[in-house]
Parts: sequence; C-alpha cells; structure tokens
Amino acid sequence: MSSVIFHRPEDAPRRAAPLKPGEAVSDTRGRPLRDLRISVTDRCNFRCVYCMPREVFGKDHVFLPHSALLTFEEITRVARIALTQGVRKIRLTGGEPLVRKGIEKLVEMLAQLRTPEGKPPELTLTTNGSLLARKARALADAGLTRITVSLDALDDALFDRMSDSAIPVATILAGIEAAAQAGLKPVKVNMVVRRGMNDQEIVPMARHFRHSGHILRFIEYMDVGNSNGWRMDEVVTGAEIVRRIGSEFALRPVQPQYRGEVAARWAYADGAGEIGLITSVSQPFCGNCTRLRLSPEGQLFTCLFAEQGHDIRALLRSGATDQALTDRLAGVWLVRGDHYSELRGSAHRDHKIEMSYIGG
Ligand code: SAM
Ligand code: SF4
Ligand code: SF4
Repeated sequence: MSSVIFHRPEDAPRRAAPLKPGEAVSDTRGRPLRDLRISVTDRCNFRCVYCMPREVFGKDHVFLPHSALLTFEEITRVARIALTQGVRKIRLTGGEPLVRKGIEKLVEMLAQLRTPEGKPPELTLTTNGSLLARKARALADAGLTRITVSLDALDDALFDRMSDSAIPVATILAGIEAAAQAGLKPVKVNMVVRRGMNDQEIVPMARHFRHSGHILRFIEYMDVGNSNGWRMDEVVTGAEIVRRIGSEFALRPVQPQYRGEVAARWAYADGAGEIGLITSVSQPFCGNCTRLRLSPEGQLFTCLFAEQGHDIRALLRSGATDQALTDRLAGVWLVRGDHYSELRGSAHRDHKIEMSYIGG
C-alpha cells in the first residue's frame, strides 16, 4: 500500500479551522506530539568516531556562528507553544549542551513553563558528562528533573579511541555521581555499542552499574548522519546484548510503563537494578515516535533521519504572534509521516542531518 508523503506543511490539506490553544495535534499516522528535543549547539568537546569523526569535524570545520543560534528567549517561546500542542517532556541536547554558555539559565527559564494542566514539563538533558561534575548542582537547582550521561567504555584507552577526547573515564564517572548527589536520580547512562569496537565492554559495564542505582541503557549503533560510515554488521542487537548479560547475571523482562517508552527494560533477578535496550535498528519504534526536534538555529525536524527541516527562526524574528507560531508548529506536525527506521534498507538518503547537529 502506498501512502502520500507531504514534504512541506504548505502542501498539506488545509484544516477547517486554526488550532485552538491547548488543542493537541496528531500526525498522519495518529501519533501525538509529546516530546521536544532541543539541540542548543552544534559544537562539542569530544570527537566520537561514530558521531563527529575528526576527519570530518576537524580544525577547518565551520560551526554555526553565535548570532545564528536561537536565543534562550526564542527557545523558551517555542517550548511554551509546544506545550500547548501536547509536549510534556523537554530534552536538551546538542552537540554537547553543557558547552553552551549559560545553559543553567535556559534550564531555569524552561523549568518555569507550565502545561495546560498547570504542571511543569519533565525537563531533562543528555550530556557526554565531561563538564557535569562542576555543573550538576547548578543544573538541578535551576530545575532540571533528570539527566542522561553517555559513556561507551570503562577502559580508558578504549574510551579515548571512541570519544577522541583525551578525557579520562574517571571524569565521566565523577559527573554521574555528582548528578545523583544533586538529586538527578535515577541517572541514565547511555552506551552506544559498535561491534568490533566496544562490544567487549557490554558485560563489564553491566557489572559496574549493578547496585549503583543508575540505569544503564544500551543503544544499537545507528546510521545517523553521513559521516560515520555505518555498516549493518557493526550493529549488536538488543537481543544479543540481553543474551550476553543474561549469561552472567539472570535477567527478567519488565513491562513498559507507558505508550511510547522507547527502551525495553530488563531487571536483574537478584534485585541489583535494571538495564534498558534501545533497539532502533533491530526493532524500530517509529509507531510510537512522538518527538519533535529543534535545531540550534531554529529548524524543526520531525525525524532523526530527515534531510530537511522547517525553519521557525525567521518567523520568530519577524514579530510573529503566538497564534502564527502555533499554526506553524501544528502545520509541521500534522503532515508528518516519518517512519525511516521501519524502511531503513529501502529508504536511501544522501543528506541526512548530523547527530551532532540535532542531538539523539
Ligand atoms: N553530546 C551529548 C552526548 O554525547 O550525550 C549529547 C548529544 S549526542 C548526539 C546524543 C546521544 O546520541 C549520545 O548518547 C550518543 O552516544 C548518541 N549517538 C551519537 N551517534 C550515534 C550513532 N551513530 N548511533 C547511536 N547513537 C548515537
Ligand atoms: Fe559529542 Fe555527543 Fe557526538 Fe560524542 S556523541 S561527538 S559527545 S555530540
Ligand atoms: Fe522517530 Fe524517525 Fe526514529 Fe522512526 S526513524 S523512531 S520516526 S526519529
């Protein structure tokens, strides 16, 4: 069966009436808008080989100038409008969000927003952890509710080979502990697994984070962007990861808590905590994907694998009313039909956005 794909909101059939404030939107596949991922910078102090390889993101790479970035006021305005459209969870990402100057101020501004029910949104952030030990307390005080820290290996030499950062693993572990002490619990720790590179760290990582109170989540290596030379045989599936950990420590599946929960959860049978599996390649979850992404300079993307965004910065800077912004956001979501991960092999794309630009 073929389905019609609208590439631009202006190509979509017109709605009978403008969306009222507070009216939630659904896309062409019936998926509501629930999550807003805000990438606050395209810069990073790491050069992870699977995300920003140094050959591509070297000294000559031109990053966005500061004037191109959305200001904190502009970001907060988009987030405020997104809450009226159904968003209940906001995640700050990047690049590395903690390298954006004054990020705590942005957290404070977002934490003051309210949903139409009068509740604060869930406000979280994904970081490489390198600057977290010194920033965790300020982020928590500013109103951050939770945090995810990326860590791909415990072995220093291997970690350095993957992150190309010259930062010791101990710095990231100290960041994780500082976040937990600041109350950002449970800390989620994300490990991207790439066969032949760090898959030997699966069991040591599981062992390390058992009994820690932190939740270790394994992420299948994805074909995001155009820079990492992705190959299917480098993907270690979630099923294999569960088998490998299960042969060491008994695991039992945990039922999902809500529709759209992307991580499959498994608990240690001896009560040592739980792990998560994000199986974007082997078991795509497009059917439950409720995420809208905002790029550092104000492009809206409805899929991690999109080739084109929808500009909102020009509208923001033209003195547009809240209603005009509401209609723009709704227009982008209403025509959304993305389901790349379900198509993968048959959906050839040459110019996907980079992960370091739009965030995970
Ligand atoms: N710099 C921050 C960090 O590393 O956590 C936030 C941005 S980073 C792009 C967000 C997440 O995407 C990280 O957990 C990272 O490991 C993950 N990621 C990057 N490239 C990936 C790939 N090719 N496949 C799967 N996950 C990837
Ligand atoms: Fe930076 Fe995060 Fe990409 Fe690594 S994964 S290069 S830390 S943005
Ligand atoms: Fe969502 Fe696109 Fe990923 Fe599918 S491929 S889960 S639509 S971001």
